[in-house]
Amino acid sequence: MRILLVEDNEELAMELRKSLVSLGHLTSWASTIEEARKELASTQFEAAILDLGLPDGDGYELVREVRAAKSDLPLLILTARSTVQDRVTGLKSGADDYLTKPFAMEELVARLDVIVRRLNPPSEIILSLNNVQFNATHRQLLVDSRTVSLPVREMDLLESLLRRKGRVVPKEAIEERLFEEGRELGSNAIEVYVHRLRKHLAECGAQIEIHTIRGVGYCLKEQE
Ligand code: CA
Repeated sequence: MRILLVEDNEELAMELRKSLVSLGHLTSWASTIEEARKELASTQFEAAILDLGLPDGDGYELVREVRAAKSDLPLLILTARSTVQDRVTGLKSGADDYLTKPFAMEELVARLDVIVRRLNPPSEIILSLNNVQFNATHRQLLVDSRTVSLPVREMDLLESLLRRKGRVVPKEAIEERLFEEGRELGSNAIEVYVHRLRKHLAECGAQIEIHTIRGVGYCLKEQE
C-alpha cells in the first residue's frame, strides 16, 4: 500500500515509517498539515495515518477536508488525547479508527489492515501473460499454476510491467512505483531490479521476457 504518514514528532515518524516500509508499504511522511495537503493533492494513497497535534493546526482539519472532497481514503488517527470524548470526536469527524499513544506497532498495523479491508473489499485483479498469472489483489504470483515468491520490489516491478504488457513502460514510471519520492536513487537502481527479476523469472520457468527499450524504459512480452 501507499501510505501517508502525518506526524510532527520526527523520531516517532521515522520509527513508524521504518516499520511500515519493512512490511512492504511505500510510506510518505508529512510533518505539517500543509505538507500533507500537498502530498494528498499529488499522490494517490491507499491509507493515511494522522497525528492530531500538528504545528500548523489540528489533524481533524485534514480529516474534514478529505471527507469534504468525498474521498473514502481510510484514515487512522494517532493521538495522545485519550478521553472517551476525544475518541468520539475523532470518529465523528470522519476518521475510520482512533489509536491512543503510546501504542504497539502490531496494533497499528492490525487496525490499518482492518480499515483498509473494510473500505476496499477485494475485487480480484488478475494480470496474466503466457504462463504467468499475477493476482494483484492478493499479490500472488503463479507460474504454470505454481506459486512463486519474489522480493517486494521485484513483485512491484513485475506488476507495473504486467499492467502495461506489450507496451513500453517508461523508466520514470517504474521509479515512481518502486521508490519513495525524494529518495536518492543510484543511476542504475532500476537496471539492478530488472536484472534480478529477469533472473528469477528465468529460474521459475516464466515464459515472458523483459525487453529493454534504450533510453525509454521496458516492455514485457511473451517469450518468443
Ligand atoms: Ca504531534
